Amino acid sequence: MGEKILIATGNKGKLREFARMLAPLGYEAVPPQEAGVESLDVLEDGATFAENAYKKARAYSEASGLPALADDSGLEVDALGGAPGIYTARYGGEGLTDRQRLEKLLEAMAGQTERGAQFVCALCLYWSEGKTLTAQGVCRGEIAHAPVGEDGFGYDPIFLVPEGSFAQIPPEVKDARSHRGKALEKLRQKLAERDKHGETER
Ligand code: IMP
Repeated sequence: MGEKILIATGNKGKLREFARMLAPLGYEAVPPQEAGVESLDVLEDGATFAENAYKKARAYSEASGLPALADDSGLEVDALGGAPGIYTARYGGEGLTDRQRLEKLLEAMAGQTERGAQFVCALCLYWSEGKTLTAQGVCRGEIAHAPVGEDGFGYDPIFLVPEGSFAQIPPEVKDARSHRGKALEKLRQKLAERDKHGETER
């Protein structure tokens, strides 16, 4: 087994993606419940994706004693001036399902011919105060006119890349293209760079 990294999220879709992307890099993605910190409630009141990722990574790492990787992500829609952005998880109000949220977004986009959008992902890997690595990834695409595909999570059925919707394409294609995959690749490079310079103490 590789080094354990706690994945600082209760989102099953994110967990699944991190588990499959971290395994080939030699890391074991530990879900919060396995570290006894399942119900951690972190206030995501940062002004940026990066701030929120830092808050979550620190809280989960401090609570579990493990290095923690947090992802704060969201959808920025051109025709909506970059909204919902950091508010993507709460779009449409509290207590909605993923499906209801994407339907709300489709309603907001009704009649819009400008469909450009991007997913953004900020990652923070936290060992202790002052020992963190961060990275950001962006994936451009378009908002579909109706949901397509059964896989994935969140807004995947309405986010189109050239190969199809994120809910339609094979996982490895999503990982290669996605905001999360790109951010993780940058983080991997930073980790390798750190280790090369002998800063392996964490
Ligand atoms: P967070 O958990 O506060 O980072 O919120 C992320 C929001 O963006 C949630 O509503 C997710 O469903 C959505 N989201 C982030 N990444 C993806 C993705 O890869 N596919 C679909 N929805 C995503």
